[in-house]
Amino acid sequence: MTARYVPIAQPSVGDEEWQAIREPLRSGWLTGGPQVRSFEQAFARRHRVSRAVATTSCTTALHLALAALGIGPGDEVIVPAFTWIATANAVLYCGAKPVFVDVRPDTFNIDTDLIREAMTPRTRAVIPVHLFGLCADVNALRAEVGSSVFVVEDAACASGAALGDVPAGGLGKVACFSFHPRKSITTGEGGMLTTSDGDLADHAERLRNHGATEPKRPHDGEPLPYVMPDFDDLGYNYRMTDVQAAMGIVQLAKLDAFIAERDACAQWYSSHLAELAWLRVPTVPSGFRHAWQAYVTVVEEGAPLIRDELMMRLQQRGVETRPGTHSVPTVSYYRKHLRVDPSRYPVSMSLQERSMAIPLHNRMTSDDYSYVVESILDSIRF
Ligand SMILES: *Cc1c(COP(=O)(O)O)cnc(C)c1O
Repeated sequence: MTARYVPIAQPSVGDEEWQAIREPLRSGWLTGGPQVRSFEQAFARRHRVSRAVATTSCTTALHLALAALGIGPGDEVIVPAFTWIATANAVLYCGAKPVFVDVRPDTFNIDTDLIREAMTPRTRAVIPVHLFGLCADVNALRAEVGSSVFVVEDAACASGAALGDVPAGGLGKVACFSFHPRKSITTGEGGMLTTSDGDLADHAERLRNHGATEPKRPHDGEPLPYVMPDFDDLGYNYRMTDVQAAMGIVQLAKLDAFIAERDACAQWYSSHLAELAWLRVPTVPSGFRHAWQAYVTVVEEGAPLIRDELMMRLQQRGVETRPGTHSVPTVSYYRKHLRVDPSRYPVSMSLQERSMAIPLHNRMTSDDYSYVVESILDSIRF
């Protein structure tokens, strides 16, 4: 037995991030200030949108996006069945109803052929998820839903991804990103909302800060000490700190290098796993730039081992794996409160049982990659 241990994901942070967070600590400006503004501007530039609004997570960015669009009780929002639970929860936070649509077995993303039958006169928005870093086919989606339904990208996994020459973040009306340590760039916790609609961005900014409207300043520019902000809307506190943003600026500058390295490693995996007919490797349709938040395989029916057994054997060898994600309709809360029938989403159910993410991150060595492949090959030899 070997002592090697390969974690599923590991953030790539080091001395540059450490140096960067010293500035807000030194100046004492800890909550959203100059660092947040710089991070927002750099993020918007990189994703070719006019505005970015930093938040405490992608979950809160999704809630802000839907709230700023005016989604509320009586509205329906289409979400893929196979996704992190936050996508659907954000719809519930607004008092609206998530309507699940199954995903495609090859891309793991929402099946645009099934959208039409899920639409009703109450459908106000659809949230395509760019799962594991591969953009959903937003062009096909838009053709299905028409122009009156808002497209809200769940780009949690997709910093730096693109569809054609359009980066994730600019494919819909508004998009939401995550900087959780499981994603390719991180601020610990953190998120970003992007849009090229200035009014929507202004609204999201106000809602991020309790719905506060800036007090009017007199012409000489000095704020009057006794004037407090007014509150037009029921807002939230979803503000990112300057400490997080200082780290985010450094991480963002590394994003393209991270993706290039992940892309090379993903291709290496795919060529070395190709001999296993029972293990399906991820698909990258032409014209898509995959950001490789995760490398997710599928253990096919008829494999020498079922997925769970393979995962156990890999764990014994120190190789960490995870199921791709949930089929949200199987989760107790959704079964109980929305009374959704999980069997109506057969592809999502099957992916929940058969998908397996294997380690892919920027702290892995080539020996680690070889070890993962060897361990998979060895696990079926006894
Ligand atoms: C990680 C993730 C989220 C939530 O991101 P947080 O920043 O942790 O709130 C939402 N949707 C998808 C698809 C994710 O993978």
